[in-house]
Amino acid sequence: MNATDIDAAPEGPLPRTAVVEAVSRVVAAFATRADTTQDEIVSLAQRLSDVFVSLSPAPVAPPAGTAAQDLATLPAADSPAPAVPLDQAVTGDKVYCLCCGRGFTMLKRHLKAEHGLTEEEYRTLFGLPEDMPLVAPNYSERKAAYAKRVGLGKYQRDQADPSVSGAD
Ligand SMILES: [Zn+2]
Repeated sequence: MNATDIDAAPEGPLPRTAVVEAVSRVVAAFATRADTTQDEIVSLAQRLSDVFVSLSPAPVAPPAGTAAQDLATLPAADSPAPAVPLDQAVTGDKVYCLCCGRGFTMLKRHLKAEHGLTEEEYRTLFGLPEDMPLVAPNYSERKAAYAKRVGLGKYQRDQADPSVSGAD
């Protein structure tokens, strides 16, 4: 069986986002196997990112005048480079996916659907602290306020108040 077809190394250095993308894709495919443990997935992700990074010897220098300090905020070399600098990954309304750089109110579903990662795997992959939110702060406040307003435990899915819908 020809199981490995990762030998199509592109010419020239890979951009860091491509590295993360490639790692995510391989790991996601690997994670669909029934006999795969979480440890295996995480260590595979780490090994793959080492391999892909070593394929790209020269990081592309940012053009003069752009935010060069981004490079200084990159984490230690044993984590894949996030697509978004960590200090910009969370805003009031959005949390940005470090794998692909897209912003969401809640990352959890996106991580699972697009990258095959659980929250825990995602945190491990990027070495994120426990208190790093994966839900936009404004959104969780709103959700908490909403839950309080409708009365915790009283809300029933099949008796949803029709006046709630469309109040977005
Ligand atoms: Zn993503």
